Amino acid sequence: MGNIVLLDELTINQIAAGEVLDRPVNAVKELVENSIDAGAKHIIIEIQSGGKGLIKVTDDGSGIKKDDIFISMERHATSKIRKVEDLENTYSMGFRGEALASIVAVSKMTMITKTAEDELGSKVTAAGGEILSVEEVSCNTGTSIAVRELFFNTPVRYKFLKQDFTEFRYIREWVEKAALANLTIAFQLMNEGKTVFSSNGNGKIQDMVYSLYGKQIQENIENIDFQEEDIKITGVVGNTLLADKTRKNQIIFLNKRSIKDNIIESAADQAFNASIGIGKKGFFIINIEMPAHEYDVNVHPTKNEVRFKDESKIYKAVYSAIKTALLSKDFLEDQSQEQFENKNNYIRNEFGFLTNHFGNRKDAYSEKIKSDIELIQREKDRQIEYKFVGILFKTYIIIELDSQMYLMDQHAAHERILYEQIRANYKDHLKNHSQMTLIPELIHLTHKEYEFVIQHLEMFQNIGFDLEPFGDNTMKVSGFPDIEYRKKINNREMFLDVLDEMTGNVKSNFKTVEERFIATVACKAAVKAGMDLTAAEVDTLIQRLLKLQNPYTCPHGRPTTIKFNKEEILNLS
Ligand code: ADP
Ligand code: MG
Repeated sequence: MGNIVLLDELTINQIAAGEVLDRPVNAVKELVENSIDAGAKHIIIEIQSGGKGLIKVTDDGSGIKKDDIFISMERHATSKIRKVEDLENTYSMGFRGEALASIVAVSKMTMITKTAEDELGSKVTAAGGEILSVEEVSCNTGTSIAVRELFFNTPVRYKFLKQDFTEFRYIREWVEKAALANLTIAFQLMNEGKTVFSSNGNGKIQDMVYSLYGKQIQENIENIDFQEEDIKITGVVGNTLLADKTRKNQIIFLNKRSIKDNIIESAADQAFNASIGIGKKGFFIINIEMPAHEYDVNVHPTKNEVRFKDESKIYKAVYSAIKTALLSKDFLEDQSQEQFENKNNYIRNEFGFLTNHFGNRKDAYSEKIKSDIELIQREKDRQIEYKFVGILFKTYIIIELDSQMYLMDQHAAHERILYEQIRANYKDHLKNHSQMTLIPELIHLTHKEYEFVIQHLEMFQNIGFDLEPFGDNTMKVSGFPDIEYRKKINNREMFLDVLDEMTGNVKSNFKTVEERFIATVACKAAVKAGMDLTAAEVDTLIQRLLKLQNPYTCPHGRPTTIKFNKEEILNLS
C-alpha cells in the first residue's frame, strides 16, 4: 500500500487557488522542491533551450513507491498532508499535490524512480496528461524526471515565453536562491551540457556567498547566529559598503521558503539605522526557522507572502538578530581594502574642498603645474632633492620641494608607477615579465571568474601571469607579474582582487578590456592606504613618480599628488 491519498473536495477548496505553471522556471521550482521534500542530498538540474527543450531534475531522495506512481501524477495527489489542519505542522515545500499533474498535462515527461526498499525501479512515460508506458528498470534510489517540450500542447502559453537565455536566467536565479536556502544540499545546474553553477552542500553560508557574489561581498559580511525562544535566525549581514538604494540584496527565507515581508523589512531597516547611509538599504540574507503554526503560508499561494500570528515577536527577533551581528567584533570598523578606499575618497573630497577654498587660483595653479613639469623634465636624470616631512594618516606622503608642499597619495602614486611599468611590459609582449613561483598555486575561482580567465588567457599571460586551466573552476598559477618596488605583495590576493574587479559590474572609462585590465592590475598590486612604508620604499616611490611624464593623476584620473605652495600655506593663518 502506497503513501499517497487523494485530498477530499473540501480540503481542496480550503487550500487557496492552485499554483500556476507559466514558465519553465515554475516547473524547475516544482521539481526541485519535490526533490528537497524527498530528502535529497544531491540535486542535478539539466536545462536545454531555456527549459523549453528539456528540464531534467535528478535527485537521490526517497523515490516514489511503485503503488504511488500513478496517483502521484493526479491532481491534488500528495503524500505530504491529509487535511488543511496539517498545514500547521508542515515544513515541506509542496502540499497542494498539483505540480506533477500540471507538468504532465503540458509536456512530455519521463520519470525514473526507485525507493530504497525496492530492488527495481520504474520508468514511466507520459505526455499531455496521459500515462503512455510503465516498465521496470534497474536504477539508483531516488527520482529523475525529464520534462521535454514544455507547453507543446498549449501554443498560447508557449508564445509568451521569452528567449532561451532569459528563461534560463530565471532558472539560474531561482536555483541559486534555492541553494542559498538549502546549504546542506549539493546543487548542480547544467545548461546545454555545461555546469554553470554548483554548490557543495557543506552548510557554510560564507562559502556560498563567495561563490554567488564573489570576494568583495564575502569580505564585507558577518554571520548572523541568533536564537530566542522558538525562533532561530541564521545568515549574513553586510557592512555599510554593501548597502544599496534598493532592497535587491535582502533575502529572507522562512523555513527555507523564500518570502517577502514588510514587517521583517522594517525590522531590518531599524537595525541597520545609523550603520549605513541615509536612505540606503542594508545587505542581508536571513534564514528564519520557527514553528509552522506561528504563521500562515497560505494567504497568497502564488505570492511569497506569509502572515505571522505574532508580528511584534518576529519584528523583535529580526531586529535583534541583525543588530547583534552588526555590532559583533569590530565589524563596522574593520579596515578592509574597500573601506580604506572609501576613507581615501573621503579624505580626497575633503582635500578637494579645501583646495577650492584657497581662492580662485585655478590659473595660477595650472601655471604652477606647468612650471613644475618643466622642472621635473630638467631633473629627469638626476636624483631629485626633496625633504621628507612625514606620512599623514598612513596615506599621504608629505614632502617639501622647491617651496612647495606635496601631499602624495601613496596608493595613487604607486598605482601610477606600476601602470606605466605594466603597460610597457604588456606592449612588448615579453614572457620574462613573469616571476615563477616555487610551487605552482591552485587557485579556486567563482565560475564567472574562471570563464573570464579562460576567455582572456592571452591577456593574462602578456602581463606576466603564468596560468593553466586546471578544471573545476580552478587555475594552476606558476608565475605572477614581476613588479618592482614591492616585496610584500600577496600575489594570490592580488590575482583574486583583479578578477573580482574585472568581473564586477563596475562602470569604467577604459576603452578596451586590456586597458582596464592593466589599470586594474596596477591598482590591485599597488600599496594601499594604511600600509606602512619603509624610508627606502618612500624614496623609490617619490623618485619614480617625479620622473614620470604625467605624475599627477593615477590611471583612473584621480590625483596622485596635491601641491600647496608656500604662500598658500602662509596665507592660511
Ligand atoms: P506535492 O509536492 O504538493 O505533494 P506534487 O504533484 O509535486 O505534489 O507531487 C506529488 C507527490 O509525488 C508528492 O507528494 C510526493 O509523494 C511524490 N513525489 C514527487 N516528486 C518526488 C520526488 N522527486 N521524490 C519523491 N517523491 C516525489
Ligand atoms: Mg510538489
